[in-house]
Amino acid sequence: MTQPTIFWFRQDLRLADHPALTAAVATGNPLLACYVLDDVTPGEWAMGGASRWWLHHSLAWLQGEIEAIGGRLVLLKGAAAVEIPALAEAVDASAVYCSRQVEDWAVRQEEETGDLLAAQEVAFERIEGALLFSPEELRTGAGEPFKVFTPFWRRALTSPAPPTPLQRPRNITFHKGGPKGLKLDALALTPGKPDWAAHWGDYWQPGSEGARKSLRKFLDKALDDYDESRNHPARQATSRLSPHLHFGEVSPRQVWYAVHAHCNKHDADPHQRDKFLSELGWREFSHHLLWHNPGMATEPFNTRFEQFPWLGQPEHLERWQRGMTGYPIVDAGMRELWHTGYMHNRVRMVVASFLTKHLLLPWQAGERWFWDTLVDADLANNACGWQWVAGCGADAAPYFRIFNPTLQGKRFDADGAYVKRWVPELAELPAKYLHEPAKAPKDVLEEAGVTLGETYPHPIVEHAAAREAALAAYASLKEDQGARAN
Ligand SMILES: Cc1cc2nc3c(=O)[nH]c(=O)nc-3n(C[C@H](O)[C@H](O)[C@H](O)COP(=O)(O)OP(=O)(O)OC[C@H]3O[C@@H](n4cnc5c(N)ncnc54)[C@H](O)[C@@H]3O)c2cc1C
Repeated sequence: MTQPTIFWFRQDLRLADHPALTAAVATGNPLLACYVLDDVTPGEWAMGGASRWWLHHSLAWLQGEIEAIGGRLVLLKGAAAVEIPALAEAVDASAVYCSRQVEDWAVRQEEETGDLLAAQEVAFERIEGALLFSPEELRTGAGEPFKVFTPFWRRALTSPAPPTPLQRPRNITFHKGGPKGLKLDALALTPGKPDWAAHWGDYWQPGSEGARKSLRKFLDKALDDYDESRNHPARQATSRLSPHLHFGEVSPRQVWYAVHAHCNKHDADPHQRDKFLSELGWREFSHHLLWHNPGMATEPFNTRFEQFPWLGQPEHLERWQRGMTGYPIVDAGMRELWHTGYMHNRVRMVVASFLTKHLLLPWQAGERWFWDTLVDADLANNACGWQWVAGCGADAAPYFRIFNPTLQGKRFDADGAYVKRWVPELAELPAKYLHEPAKAPKDVLEEAGVTLGETYPHPIVEHAAAREAALAAYASLKEDQGARAN
C-alpha cells in the first residue's frame, strides 16, 4: 500500500493559496489531514476562551470542506510533538507537511516534532505561507532585522512582489485508513454555561467562506474611505479580517491581490489601497519582530522599561476589564470586547493607554486580558500593539503621548453612537456630555436617568492627575537610568 503523506493543519485553516498543502498534495501520496489541539507546548500562551470559540467553528467549516471532496480531518489532542510522530507511525506515513509559524513555542513544537520524525525516518517539511515576506529575507542594508516600521515597509514594497495566490489543489487523493480521531465536541472548545458566546454567530462567520465574504464586503463598501473612516469605531469601516488572518482562513497574499484587483478594476484611489495594505504591513512588521525577538510577548522590547514603576492599584484592573472606569469610551471598548470578542483598533489604543498610563498597570496585564477575550488574539500583533501603546515597543509611540480618553471619544465618536451602543445606561445623555458625564449638570443627569456612582461609575481616576503621575513615573525611570549610568 502507498504510504500516506500527513498534512498537519495549524494556523492555516484553508485549502486555497496554501503552499504547504499544495506541496503535500504534490508528493502524489494519499493525504491524511489532521489538526492537533495542543494546549501543552504553548504553556502560558495556550489559546484563550474567545480564540477557542473561533477555532471550534473554523474547524467545523474546514471539516465540511474536506469531507465535501472525499477526505476527512482527523482531530487529535495533546502535545503535537507526541501526537504527530505517533500518527505517522500508526499509518506508516512517509512524510509530514505543515506551515511555519513565528511564535517561539510553535518553532519549538516544529523542531521537537521534526527531531522525532527524523528518528522514525519520516520526512518533515515546514513551508511558509502565513506572511507576505519572509522574516529571514527582509533585512536592513546592514543585514539586520528592521526595528522601525517605515523603512521596513518601504523595503518590503520595493522587494519582489509576493507570489500570486495558489489555486486550491485539485483532485486530492485521501488516505482511507488511519485513526478516527476525536469528535469536534470532544475538544471542548466552546463555553459551557453560561454561554457567553451564544450570540457571537451574529457577529462572525469563522472559516474561509466567512473570510471571503468579509473581504468582499470591505472592498465593495469600505475601502473607498478607509483612511478617514477607519478611526471611527461606530462605522463599519474596517475589514474585520483579523481573526480570519490569524487562523489562516485567508492568506495575506489573497487579501493583497484581491485589493489590487479591486482597485485596478474600479480605478480606485491608490491612497486608500496603500493605507489598507500598510495595515497588513503592520501585521508583517509585528510577526517579523516576534520572530527575531521571541521574548517580546512578555519582555519590553526597549529594555529601559524593565524598571518601569508600575504603581497602579491592582483592583483597578477588574474595573477596567468590566468596563466600569467612568470613562465612557474606555468602558464602551471593554464591553464591546466582552460582548463580541473584538474591539475597534482606535479604541484598543485608547483602552491600552488608559490601563498603562492612567492606571499605571503593566501592559502585560492588558495583553493577557486581550489574549483571553479577543477572537483575533495573536501573539505578535497583541504584544506589538501593547508595547507600542505603552511606549516600550519597537518604533513605539513616545511615552508622553498620553491619550485623553474624553477628547478621543469626542473626536472619534462625536455623536456618541458607539458609546450609546455599548454603555446603554448613558444613552439618554445629550451628545455634549456623553463622553464626560461627570461634567453634566444635575438636571441633565436626572433627565437622562443617570445617577453617578449608582447607574454609572464616577471616573476611577482624574485625567490631569493621572497624566501627571504617569509622566512622573516615566521621569523617575529616566532619572534611575541616569543614576545607574553614572
Ligand atoms: C493594544 C492592541 C492590541 C492588539 N491586539 C491584536 C491582536 O491580538 N490581534 C490582531 O490581529 N491585531 C491586534 N491589534 C491590531 C489591530 O487593532 C487589529 O488588527 C485590528 O483592529 C483588526 O481589525 P480589522 O481586521 O478590521 O483591521 P483592518 O483595519 O481592516 O486591517 C486589516 C488587517 O491588518 C492587520 N492590522 C491592522 N492593524 C494592525 C496593527 N496595528 N498591528 C498589526 N496588524 C494590524 C490585521 O491583520 C487586520 O485584520 C492590536 C492593537 C492594539 C493597539
